[in-house]
Amino acid sequence: MSPTSVILPGATIGILGSGQLGRMLAIAAKQMGYRVAIFSPEADSPAGDVADRDVVARYDDLDAVRAFAQSVDVVTFEFENVPSAATAAAAERAPVRPDGRVLHITQQRLREKGFLLERGFPVTPFRRVVALRDLEAALRDLGLPGVLKTASFGYDGKGQTMLRSARDVAPAFAGLKGAEGIYEAFVDFEKEISVVGARTFTGAFQAFPVFENTHAHHILDVTFAPAAISAAQTAEATRIAAGILEALEVVGLLTVEMFVARDGRILVNELAPRTHNSGHLTLDACPTSQFEQQLRAVCGLPLGDAALHKPAAMANLLGHLWEGGEPNWRAALEDPAVKLHLYGKAEARVGRKMGHLNALGGDAQEAVRRVLQARDRLAARL
Ligand code: AMP
Repeated sequence: MSPTSVILPGATIGILGSGQLGRMLAIAAKQMGYRVAIFSPEADSPAGDVADRDVVARYDDLDAVRAFAQSVDVVTFEFENVPSAATAAAAERAPVRPDGRVLHITQQRLREKGFLLERGFPVTPFRRVVALRDLEAALRDLGLPGVLKTASFGYDGKGQTMLRSARDVAPAFAGLKGAEGIYEAFVDFEKEISVVGARTFTGAFQAFPVFENTHAHHILDVTFAPAAISAAQTAEATRIAAGILEALEVVGLLTVEMFVARDGRILVNELAPRTHNSGHLTLDACPTSQFEQQLRAVCGLPLGDAALHKPAAMANLLGHLWEGGEPNWRAALEDPAVKLHLYGKAEARVGRKMGHLNALGGDAQEAVRRVLQARDRLAARL
């Protein structure tokens, strides 16, 4: 199959990964008349639940990956930490979008930041850390405070240590447990934002409005749009995202997480070659959701309108909300501006993303207020 083929409704979308991002992509694909096949090591998954076919196998079972790719018309991702050998095996049998090169760069922080730096995108200064003396040298070069992260497989603040004084050096290094690390100069940021962009193989590009994100315990808590930043910063953030998708020649969708520093500069923190938790408000606030846009981009269809109908906010629903019993859904939905999205996960563990609420408002702050009030009402007695 040609790498630039258009994939039309009726065809089968193959998704690597089976969490909520895959579930919402599968629902968007079903709505547009596609068939959906999921590949992941987990049975009874959020995405497997709504797909036509659910293949349960390990990502390093390359024969299973090949057979899966053979049975679909395009392969895309909802989980990027898939071994390179798996994307290469899939690419033997079907177009893989975004391709293995994009995954290779974005799944390792040193490669990712190195790529961004080399291409002139703004990032905080960083150094590679393999030995204790690398970390000591990085501190001499970049100073304190700083953040030491594992170079691979980090998410939601996992594998990260903040260094505030020389005393933190040895324990932080020990925390790497022999893994390759990256030391980053601390960014004194005012806020965190993200831009979700999509690009097709013809080079067409569309970005959603800039999202503003707040975290609790290192996990995304609330997102709202439009972000409360200047028009110039909005344009700059969107320009950076467009430039990154172009530089990586992404065919598909990619999220750029950024810091707005206190001095007004915008710095790129991280890339995710897929849809993103901060983009969930697009399900109710934009004519095209991030999931439909991912589908359109990987299928080579024209991209959809990504503008906001109305200011909006999203609040994550994590497992602890279930501690006192089933949340009071009825109470949360008393506000007609509030929409509920649940991912069909059977077991509510603390910190596990179980679903989210979206709300629209006259302005972003009103949307935030409404979504937070709705989430508070979940704890009201049934
Ligand atoms: P990450 O896993 O890189 O997305 O980082 C998780 C969170 O840690 C970010 O959302 C920031 O809140 C914080 N963080 C990461 N890197 C830095 C940095 N260099 N300076 C300040 N805060 C950071």
